Amino acid sequence: MAAAVLDKTFVLRCLLNFKYRGKTIVLMYHRVLDDSDLENGVVQSGLFVRRETFERQISYVKDNFKVLSFSEFADILNNKKELAGISFLITFDDGWKDNFTNAFPVLKKHEVPALIFLAAGFIGKQSDFWQLRVTRLCNLLSEKSGPDDFFKKISAGRPHYEHILAMAENSDDQSRQDHVFMLLSELKQHPLPEIEQFIKDLCNIAGIDPACLHGTDSFLSWEEAALMKSHGIEFGSHGVTHEILTRSKPTVADELRQSKSIIENRLKIKISSFSYPNGDYDDFIAEAVQNEGYETAFSTQAGASGPGTNPMAIPRINIHEDMTNTIPMFLCRIIGLW
Ligand SMILES: [Zn+2]
Repeated sequence: MAAAVLDKTFVLRCLLNFKYRGKTIVLMYHRVLDDSDLENGVVQSGLFVRRETFERQISYVKDNFKVLSFSEFADILNNKKELAGISFLITFDDGWKDNFTNAFPVLKKHEVPALIFLAAGFIGKQSDFWQLRVTRLCNLLSEKSGPDDFFKKISAGRPHYEHILAMAENSDDQSRQDHVFMLLSELKQHPLPEIEQFIKDLCNIAGIDPACLHGTDSFLSWEEAALMKSHGIEFGSHGVTHEILTRSKPTVADELRQSKSIIENRLKIKISSFSYPNGDYDDFIAEAVQNEGYETAFSTQAGASGPGTNPMAIPRINIHEDMTNTIPMFLCRIIGLW
């Protein structure tokens, strides 16, 4: 069994070398969770790896490839430095608290540098992304299901409410989760103020206090970010409100400027990199990012980077538990087999 896994890993590594020799693979993580986080919190699948999975991956990457700091990566993009083999850059989006509690100890232990993109408006605050709040709201609403026509009453003629209704009518977990997922995907198409209004209206009708939808301690504090900085972790911007920039063009410049200045003032560092919230951008957004003084911007399109890569559209591989919990799966994901 061990030999079979070893062989598979060896073959996949050969494939990886063949495909990406001389390139940098940028990994994109979000959350790194331990068992108690998974038991107690509301977590979106696709946005986390387990701590042991993360450690396995970091240790494998460290043992087999060169892991770059962000400044080394920038030198390669700018043709100031060249590498013959494959290199890696480790990145995280959003600035979750578990980046400090679970990821940082692993990074420190293996002496691996990383770049964390902060959603500046959430750092040091007891607040949560709307996605988590809507998921919590759906959970609370599910508990309210009963013989009365509560859901039918609130759903009549309202946008997106068919999912709320379906959640009440379906008792199995999977279909409930499917409807939460569909609801989140639909809401994502709207500007942030409309999403906030939807949450407010639904809370009003259901008699739920919107404040109770916020988790506590979801995001990093500035002190934790500063401590990580003192151990070589680097930071970039991920906007202020995490609004998808292509849906809010009038406020794009503010998002870019304010997030940069908040992080620079708090951490006393220069911010030169940006990560597009939800990975969404177009020419207008990329130009705005450049105009606001950022030198690099990271997307969520898969691929690898090297000299000549557009610095405003750096590809990344999204790493999450479902698809990468063994090293062969991790390598398949990077190669692009799934
Ligand atoms: Zn994000």
